Amino acid sequence: MIEFENTFKTLPKFLYEEVTPTPIKNARLVHTTSLVQHLGLRELGPEKLKLWLNGELTLPGEERISSHYAGHQFGVWAGQLGDGRAISLGELKTPAGGRLVVQTKGSGLTPFSRMGDGKAVIRSSVREYLCSEAMVGLGIPTTRVLAILTGDDRVRRETIERSGLVARVFPTNLRFGHFELCFHLEMEEELDALIAYTRTTFFGGVTTEEMLTEIVARTARLMAQWQDVGFCHGVMNTDNMSVLGLTIDCGPFGFLEDTELGYVCNHSDHQGRYAYNQQPSVGMWNLERLLVCFVNKVPREKLQEILNTYPDIFEKEYLRLCRRKLGLLGQDAADYKLFVDLLQTMSKLSFDYTFTFRQLAGYRRGNPRSLREVFDYYGNREEFLDWLRKYDLRLAGETGSDEERGLRMKETNPKYVLKNYIAQEVIAEVERDRADRLAAWLEVLYRPYDEHPGFEAYAGPTPPEHKHYEVSCSS
Ligand code: AMP
Ligand code: MG
Repeated sequence: MIEFENTFKTLPKFLYEEVTPTPIKNARLVHTTSLVQHLGLRELGPEKLKLWLNGELTLPGEERISSHYAGHQFGVWAGQLGDGRAISLGELKTPAGGRLVVQTKGSGLTPFSRMGDGKAVIRSSVREYLCSEAMVGLGIPTTRVLAILTGDDRVRRETIERSGLVARVFPTNLRFGHFELCFHLEMEEELDALIAYTRTTFFGGVTTEEMLTEIVARTARLMAQWQDVGFCHGVMNTDNMSVLGLTIDCGPFGFLEDTELGYVCNHSDHQGRYAYNQQPSVGMWNLERLLVCFVNKVPREKLQEILNTYPDIFEKEYLRLCRRKLGLLGQDAADYKLFVDLLQTMSKLSFDYTFTFRQLAGYRRGNPRSLREVFDYYGNREEFLDWLRKYDLRLAGETGSDEERGLRMKETNPKYVLKNYIAQEVIAEVERDRADRLAAWLEVLYRPYDEHPGFEAYAGPTPPEHKHYEVSCSS
């Protein structure tokens, strides 16, 4: 039985509005994930599922709302925002005893649409769909997706595009911006209710200080994980920061290709505020914006102390992941330097991030020829050979064989990541209402550490003609 328990609606009315979705025209259900089963929605069947997600059918107990939040965008207070094109259909009780929100993105105007049209295009829907599930495969906390639909509305972006709709799933839609809204608009009672709700519903009833400590830790670990796989989010505004430490709102993202450390994936980010190598410090800046909202609840010194735990948690976690990327079991004080040396070398030589780390799994001590594929592609690069000599010295202090290290490294260095040109290939097919490539790529992305015959070409360095694919906020 499909059952809802809508806890968000116990919050003050200020935090949400009831809304009516605008169905997309001639909706087609292009693809669904295993979440259909997980959420107990199988009994609906594909046709009813499509109608429900598209706002053409209601289910008993559902409640459609858009939530109200605020935020700092590109470092500037943006004031009131909210779900401008997203509608939560309700909180489903799952067969396993959990509770998850189903939210559709692209469901038309809401009271928070501001200048927007409330629509999503196929391109942005596919990107969010693939990226969410790619994160699952990489073991990174993320919102999930349930289904993707295409429609025939003509939507104006840089050009005219067709409409899409993605149904996503998360325990809660709460962002830093929800707290900022209540605090900056001096909605004291609403802020108290929001804090109590968040603590009890999602953090097991811990104290406010404990909850904030946990949010800081989760965000720090998330940033370390993004850096590890070379993920660049692109729009780390505080309204895109999940209180649960989930990757959320994947749009103009990019995975590192040429290991350009100052890589800015979002073409709309003119200042490079959200460059790859800025993400960890932006994470902390965003947390400070969140913690400020608690100045009347928690002593200032305590808030500062909580914020100050961030660098340490990030550095420890990142160092752990860096060692793992290099296949190191032991700990040497110079490991971080060794890792950064490699990154800088790769950056200088424009080596592909994913390809190079994956190839390193096949490295045999003292034998650069074991990296034949790298040298065949990039030539005999002296700087890289120098680094390999340092790696040799470090590996001499490790126990275990090259083969064992190689196996470990293949479990931690993905062979496949969702590069922009790959997303683009899938988008082109979905634009033609075909989901074969989408389905095939999902299988690869769910298991990015495995071999996938037929996809070998995508594990190499990005072909020059597919580099620098431009994505913007409308992506
Ligand atoms: P984003 O940075 O993409 O997460 O979006 C920032 C804000 O703009 C959020 O409040 C969105 O809900 C809103 N927004 C983005 N695109 C649209 C759109 N097409 N129509 C209405 N609101 C939008
Ligand atoms: Mg957003």
